Amino acid sequence: MKTILTALLICFVFCRVQAQLTPFELSKDKNYTATYSEIIAYYQKLSLHNPQMKLINYGTTDVGKPLTLVVLSRDRIFDPKLIKQQNKRVLLINNGIHPGEPEGIDASMMLTRDLLKKNALPKDVVICIIAVYNIDGCLNRGLSRINQNGPRAYGFRGNYRNLDLNRDFIKADSKNALAFEQILNTWNPEVFLDNHTSDGADYQYVMTLIETQKDKQNPILADYTSKTLSPELYKRMIKSGYEMTPYVESEEKSPDSGIVSFLETPRFATGYTAQHNIISYITETHMLKPFDKRVYATYDFEQNLIDIYERDAELIGELKHKADEQVSKQKTFALNWDVDKEHYDSLTFKGFTAGYKPSEVSGLPRLYYDRTKPYTKTIKYFDNYVATATADKPLAYIIPQAWGKVIELFKLNNVAMKRLSHDTTLNLQMYYIGDYKTPQRPYEGHYLHSNVKLNPADISIKFYAGDYVIYTNQPLNRYIVETLEPQGVDSFFAWNFFDSVLGEKEYFSDYVFEDVAADLLKKDPELKKKLDDEKSKDPRLAASAGAQLNFVYRNSPYFEKTYLRYPVGRLLTDTKLDLK
Ligand SMILES: [Zn+2]
Repeated sequence: MKTILTALLICFVFCRVQAQLTPFELSKDKNYTATYSEIIAYYQKLSLHNPQMKLINYGTTDVGKPLTLVVLSRDRIFDPKLIKQQNKRVLLINNGIHPGEPEGIDASMMLTRDLLKKNALPKDVVICIIAVYNIDGCLNRGLSRINQNGPRAYGFRGNYRNLDLNRDFIKADSKNALAFEQILNTWNPEVFLDNHTSDGADYQYVMTLIETQKDKQNPILADYTSKTLSPELYKRMIKSGYEMTPYVESEEKSPDSGIVSFLETPRFATGYTAQHNIISYITETHMLKPFDKRVYATYDFEQNLIDIYERDAELIGELKHKADEQVSKQKTFALNWDVDKEHYDSLTFKGFTAGYKPSEVSGLPRLYYDRTKPYTKTIKYFDNYVATATADKPLAYIIPQAWGKVIELFKLNNVAMKRLSHDTTLNLQMYYIGDYKTPQRPYEGHYLHSNVKLNPADISIKFYAGDYVIYTNQPLNRYIVETLEPQGVDSFFAWNFFDSVLGEKEYFSDYVFEDVAADLLKKDPELKKKLDDEKSKDPRLAASAGAQLNFVYRNSPYFEKTYLRYPVGRLLTDTKLDLK
């Protein structure tokens, strides 16, 4: 009897452990990433036996399936508000935003099981894992990353709308992005991790790392990450056997001449989370290394991050609080950045010697990396950025309710907003769009504006009951200012949210306006002088009847005042408002 019981027990344990192996682990050559249905089935099965784990679905994605969040909570508390009340921290891990870069998907499945099995969930950190973010792309399985060394098949980068979801966090065209923003603003993580695979140059490292660019990051958080968290992650990954280097982006083809730290503007996941004062990392395993090594490196990175986070949970909570307070009071905000070529650091880099040989395709010289010639060199590291545009925040922004998508996104992001109780005329600063550049072809479904020049004007504008007032004394100030200031690299203006103000609605008929214009010039000597001055400066104007009529029209009271006027008002003086 005892033997039978022991055999049964062994079988029970064995069968359960078998059942808990991931599809990656079950594949013989470990060159396999789980499919969407395998991912969800795996987590569902795991959650049946584990009260410390809960699956929560958010919204839908563009392909109609919900975004599944795996929540791991040692104390079995799954209410985000209660978690905060109990002074616990939250870690959010995102996987499969680029489903062709799936290490995080498989690594997170194994790590979830192991943390539960070993009863090793952190005490003070609740772990939230997005099982797979780009479900649409994950379902579109094939071999679309031609240079990548495995797995055998994987999902496609574009989602169902053919969007790169890692450019979609500000414009939020996809339902995936809206569900992500709901998750982020419900769970309010203090630390965020986004898992990827990198292409580009060859070198010795399996894993590279992007951290929120330090000059773009809140200085309180940057001080901690650059002095403590990041160095410790690098140190622990050496111990794990996966020494890392910063993400390799070089202006030349080979990294020997130096690498540039990656600038993740707000359109990227970590650029968006940085606006929320969240410490953020991106793992980028190297495409040419075997898939299993890439998965294990990602697994170890996640474990190391969790360990340090648990150790520093109290401190990270305090720093987040301080950063939120500081941003609430911050006056000037950077809107765009550029790498500082003059001031660079150096780092020790383990590369492979690059060379050129004749191409068998073209006969022309081609780049190659010689893996038999590894080297360790000190290279330049361009990791300093300078702000190229800044804005001082107003006391409040006034957003007409007509701009619904802005309001919808602000609500989703928990931006505190009030509404005007009744129609109100306000003296404030409005921007006229002086100039901007727009590309010929669309980028991620938009004609992204850049090089925006503004002409501020202090004027009086009538707003309507129900229009929105956003005071700039909020922890979310960065998100507010960087999206609403048109010069922001990823502002709503840049992403075409306000394009209707760039078109004229009325015009004139030359033959009718001739008489009106002549009358206007007679009655307004100042206007006449202005026209004459311009004519003497500009021979083309002097030679064109139509251009002169147009000049008079644009300087007349008939010309529409809303043309090129950015509709969001900047309230600069303390004005008593009736609000609801
Ligand atoms: Zn990627």
